[in-house]
This record gives sequence, C-alpha cells and structure tokens, in this order.
Amino acid sequence: MFDKDFVQYDIQMSVLFDTILVKVDKELNIMENIEMKWCQSCAMPMNSAELFGTNADGSKNEEYCQYCFANGAFTSEQTMEEMIETCVPFVSKGEPWPDEDTARKEMLVLFPQLKRWKK
Ligand SMILES: [Zn+2]
Repeated sequence: MFDKDFVQYDIQMSVLFDTILVKVDKELNIMENIEMKWCQSCAMPMNSAELFGTNADGSKNEEYCQYCFANGAFTSEQTMEEMIETCVPFVSKGEPWPDEDTARKEMLVLFPQLKRWKK
C-alpha cells in the first residue's frame, strides 16, 4: 500500500540533510542559518509541533524533540557518541546516508554543532 505521509517525510528528510551537509562543508556555525527546526540533541527534523519536547510546565520545547526531552529533562543521559550509535540504525538505510559507516562519519561532523553537544 502506498503510504503518502511516509514518502513525504522521507523526501523532507532527504532535502533537509542535503542542506545540512552542504552547509557543514561551508561553515561551522550552521545552526543559525537553518530555518527549519531540528532536535539539538539527535538532529531529527521537527517539521511538526507534535515532535517538540515538553518543558516542566507542559509547554513545548522547540529545541529538542519529544524523544530526547520530556517534562523539562533529557529522557536519557548519554554521551554524544552513544547518541550517534542510537541514531545510526535510523539514518543508514539509504536516507539520508547509504550505510552505517557513512552515517557515523557524517554524524561525527554534524553532532558537535548541536546545542546539547556543543562545547
Ligand atoms: Zn531528539
């Protein structure tokens, strides 16, 4: 069966990561230049408010996704390297990256730019 929403998400994901990768190549302070929000912990695109995390008072947190940040705290304490390993299975099946080695390599460039991991 043709799943329109899934295809749509796939395309947006692909376009977003293309944009990110080009910008990563060009400059290091990429985050300010991208209008679409994406999680500052796991880099998941957040193109719907439903994906935002939640603050302690129940309001939406627009910097982190619901999987990383809930009720005002990170859902799990992990290092950047552990987070990358968590993400590898989801981003190495062709979109946006063709295999796990490539995904890992690209995320090691991308993730240090995210607010949670920025030193
Ligand atoms: Zn996240």
